[in-house]
Amino acid sequence: MNNEDKTERGEYAGIEKILTVLEKSEKHYDVEKIERAYLYAKALHEGQFRVSGEPYISHPIAVAEIVTTLGLDTDSICAAFLHDTVEDCPDKTNLDIISTRFGEEVAMLVDGLTKMKVINVEDKEEANMENIRKMLLAMSKDIRVIFIKLCDRLHNMRTLGVKKDAKRRTTALETMHVYAPLAHRLGMQRIKQELENLALSYLDPIGYAEVSGDIERKYGLNQNFIENTRAIVSEKLDEYHINFTLEGRVKTVYSIYRKMFKQNKSFDEIYDFYAIRIIVDTELECYTALGIIHEMFKSIPGRFKDYISTPKTNMYQSLHTTVIGRDGIPFEVQIRTREMHHIAEYGIAAHWKYKSGASSKEEIDQKLSWISRLIDTEDGAIDNEDFMRALKIDIFSDETFVFTPKGDVIALPQNSTLIDFAYAIHSEVGNKMVGAKINGMISPIDRVPQTGEIIEILTSSSSKGPSRDWLKIVKTSEARAKIRQWFKKEKRPENIKIGLAELEKELGKFRVKPTEEQKTEIINATARRLGMAIPEDLLNAIGFNGIAMTKVLAKLKDEYERIVKPDEENPITETEQIQTQKTKKIRSNSGIIIDGEYGCEVKFAKCCNPLPGDRVIGFVTKGYGVSIHKHDCPNVIESRKNPDNADRWLSAEWDSETLSASGQNKALFEAMLQIHAEKDIMLLANITTCLADMKVSLLSINTQKSDDTDIIINLTVGCKNVEHFNSIMSRLKAISHVHTISRGFS
Ligand code: MN
Repeated sequence: MNNEDKTERGEYAGIEKILTVLEKSEKHYDVEKIERAYLYAKALHEGQFRVSGEPYISHPIAVAEIVTTLGLDTDSICAAFLHDTVEDCPDKTNLDIISTRFGEEVAMLVDGLTKMKVINVEDKEEANMENIRKMLLAMSKDIRVIFIKLCDRLHNMRTLGVKKDAKRRTTALETMHVYAPLAHRLGMQRIKQELENLALSYLDPIGYAEVSGDIERKYGLNQNFIENTRAIVSEKLDEYHINFTLEGRVKTVYSIYRKMFKQNKSFDEIYDFYAIRIIVDTELECYTALGIIHEMFKSIPGRFKDYISTPKTNMYQSLHTTVIGRDGIPFEVQIRTREMHHIAEYGIAAHWKYKSGASSKEEIDQKLSWISRLIDTEDGAIDNEDFMRALKIDIFSDETFVFTPKGDVIALPQNSTLIDFAYAIHSEVGNKMVGAKINGMISPIDRVPQTGEIIEILTSSSSKGPSRDWLKIVKTSEARAKIRQWFKKEKRPENIKIGLAELEKELGKFRVKPTEEQKTEIINATARRLGMAIPEDLLNAIGFNGIAMTKVLAKLKDEYERIVKPDEENPITETEQIQTQKTKKIRSNSGIIIDGEYGCEVKFAKCCNPLPGDRVIGFVTKGYGVSIHKHDCPNVIESRKNPDNADRWLSAEWDSETLSASGQNKALFEAMLQIHAEKDIMLLANITTCLADMKVSLLSINTQKSDDTDIIINLTVGCKNVEHFNSIMSRLKAISHVHTISRGFS
């Protein structure tokens, strides 16, 4: 390195700091390559200045420094130095040059960073904001792009003060609505909190100043509260010989501000203003510490959360509880292990900071393969498979994100076609669709759009409606349901003709031909057995493909045997037997048969969480497929009173395989349990041990309310079917201090 590069101005000190960190690190870095990236970026940005008047290179240095603190690899640090060069110095460099000098990976990262432009967020609704965030994740291809982008944004926010007012506002809005939630999703708590606090200070400077002033005032008033609490908690933990670290004052200005705003409370009404954090060695010690805290202080009901047994999707693990301390002052206690703490602070990036080396044997797709090189399989602290699964689900979601011409982002399941897109916008757009454009070019309507494309649907009021072939093309159950709905309504006379012809053809196949009268009788009886009020409904359903023919034919054959050949010995039982065997072989993905169809995509309603064995019913939701409720769910009973919904109800039943699921069948359903019990220090431990004994997974647990002696605990568990559920109930009932158990939360 040349001498003149060293600290001739203050900003240049950053590079020295970075090199010192790299030299001290146990991980291997290609320091020569990093220095080259720095010098190249410095040369390219020569003569460019930031609004503050500093040389531009001070910004990439600062970003690279944050990237280094996160523990990211050599290529990430190089990309941080180079991240603005392609866009800001187009006449001096491009991706090809960067690729030749620093390799394809660095070029790929720089490319990803250059492309990450956030579209205007100012007038967007929350659902659309979520799609923008997901789209950024999907577009970035490599998670390091997001990490570096967050570091870039963090430095821009730290130095936003010098920018013009309007620029400050848009940048702060983007930060609040897009980048801070992204950091949150990746579990990067530190960056998330700093981004939120900085964004708030620009979006509502007065509110920010007020709350931070109030915080200082309140800490001043109860100066010793946190210190005292820490002292007595420490003493008690020492008695139990627990090796711990205690932190106080963990609430940020933004978190207090948000509580005041969301719950419409004044500053003095904020409940858990004070907080302490206990960091211990083992998971068991977490629960022991929780027991100690609950023994020392009165706990506030409904505030206990166990994120250890049920981690958040961003991998966050911790126990949370709120208790009443000295002078009736409530405070929150967070308890976790050191490992959990690292992940809470750095999220997914923690894998770079704390793991290195050896390659993994996991079978993962190419998109993720580079991660496997960076995770040490011998260090079993976090299950690799779980980590990969979490990444795939939450980060590389199987969705495609496309723009409407107005700039709204629409999320579609992967491989959806332009027809699916049209129906996702509105049924009428789909029904009147005559063509489509992708990025301004006319495109066949069965094409599969790619993330980032702008899609315009061409409609015409003279369109004759969807074609029956579309049912074979579309990928989403929503589009399919809407197309069927259209045929059901608009083409009823035609459907009835098609349906009748279809059944006559089938009846014609029997050896003994039924008479016209018998035909009518057979069709009427078949319709009744399929739950149709009039035979025309059945014919209509056959006509618009709304019912599976296999189901119709089984019943039709029964009725034929009954009406045309009544004398033969017990033919119905025999047919039924064959039919059951047939049904058993077919397995629907969801375990649910809708209106006789196996392929439907369904969601299980959260209000009643139906289990295999429960009597169920389907409801066509607006935009979220068919939701399955228990037949006696209060929401169903209420909603059925509304005649507008009449044609949205569908008959639903469990498929036989799901019902007969044995031990090896892994399909689990969420089931809710409510336990009324007498307060007891061992109660929660006994419940969790009992569930663990039965190998039942606990999905959530919280205490709802209580009086002095009694407590109500709401549990969500993974459950196979009604029978399994009942056995769980009876085992839990046997635990001492438990009074009653019921299904569902009241
Ligand atoms: Mn930048």
